[in-house]
Amino acid sequence: MSIKVVKFGGSSLADAEQFRKVANIIKADDARRYVVPSAPGKRFSGDIKVTDMFYACYDLSKGGSAEDFDAQYKMIEDRYNGIISDLGMDFDISGELKYVKRAILCHAGRDFAASRGEYLNGLILAKYLGYDFIDAENVILFTEDGKFDSERTQEVLSAELARHERAVIPGFYGIMPNGTVKTFSRGGSDITGSIVARAVNADLYENWTDVSGFLMADPRIVKDPLAIKTITYRELRELSYMGATVLHEDAIFPVRNAGIPINIKNTNKPDDEGTMIVASAADYDSEHIITGIAGIKGFSSIIIEHDMMNAQVGFVRRVLEVVEDYDISLEHIPSGIDTMSVICSTEQLDSCREKLLAAINRNIKPDSLNVEDNLALIAVVGRGMVKARGTAARVFSSVSDAGVNIKMIDQGSSELNIIIGIEEHDFNTAIEAIYREFVK
Ligand code: ASP
Repeated sequence: MSIKVVKFGGSSLADAEQFRKVANIIKADDARRYVVPSAPGKRFSGDIKVTDMFYACYDLSKGGSAEDFDAQYKMIEDRYNGIISDLGMDFDISGELKYVKRAILCHAGRDFAASRGEYLNGLILAKYLGYDFIDAENVILFTEDGKFDSERTQEVLSAELARHERAVIPGFYGIMPNGTVKTFSRGGSDITGSIVARAVNADLYENWTDVSGFLMADPRIVKDPLAIKTITYRELRELSYMGATVLHEDAIFPVRNAGIPINIKNTNKPDDEGTMIVASAADYDSEHIITGIAGIKGFSSIIIEHDMMNAQVGFVRRVLEVVEDYDISLEHIPSGIDTMSVICSTEQLDSCREKLLAAINRNIKPDSLNVEDNLALIAVVGRGMVKARGTAARVFSSVSDAGVNIKMIDQGSSELNIIIGIEEHDFNTAIEAIYREFVK
């Protein structure tokens, strides 16, 4: 029998109505045997995610009044009790809620507090579905230095899952060797889902959220962009890195290595196809030359000019050594005959701007040294580019026809992406122009 691991995000489990939708989805396909829930998310814009309420409780346990802590915790209790009573369940979670409250007050730690959002939601969902409950603290393991322990987890988790025909495993957290609960970074239930999918060697990892997959461009910039039907892991890495967020970046690795595809699906529109994320798209021809466009603002370019730079062996290395000394991770290093630029995030640069520039002046003695701020990078990503000639020309001409000046160009050697640097105020215009050029 085929196995699907299904992960539901916070908005998919935000209230009783959403729980019902989730149960219907799970029951509609017998293969959906392992379920990874997030904590209840926002029910409406302006609502507060339960995880954030737990973080607030933790902060109050450290430095707030007892009344404020109680009031904050009561809101959490109300969220869970509301879900249980609206579902008409015969389930008493008050003992668990009391225990968690006491543990937070007894300094069980920030990650412990945050993880309880998923833990409690998992208990309710398991009961509602009639599935077994597997506490992630028994099966998702971290090393002493807080890194995810992939090998040991695979061993322990796959053995445990083999004992359960159907189970709910809460997302987002696991345990360290010393018994302390540890969470992944925010949005980390996606990672748990991927780890569970690998452990049962699933046929498919379905990641259910509140959008019907990835869109080709940000809908706040491009009106009604098309959905991406199929995307490769590598394309997705490029797009996520550049700001397209639907799935946690680190969720890709466990399933990618195991060759398990991910299907991003919409809990509110379960019939929509969503986006399939696959290892190799040989079987999936892309409809358009480009798969997607994404971008981020907030970059600076350090422009270094030096006569005969080209002929000086080790020039670039010396520049990069200085940059490295200041712990700056660079994004791109476009260069010309006598100039090179280092593009990095403005935030990082601001932590050491003057010292870094002084060090470059001292060590490199450039003819001129300037910094340009307020840059944005836009990535045009697509596996179809390798085959199509003239893609770069189309990107550049569409952008310049829209009156945007391109400050930097970089094409990855895999020909999977073209990255351009522009001024931030041209961001939307450039994305819109590229989208129209390739998609209409
Ligand atoms: N509940 C956690 C968060 O809000 C993890 C998740 O939803 O994936 O970040």
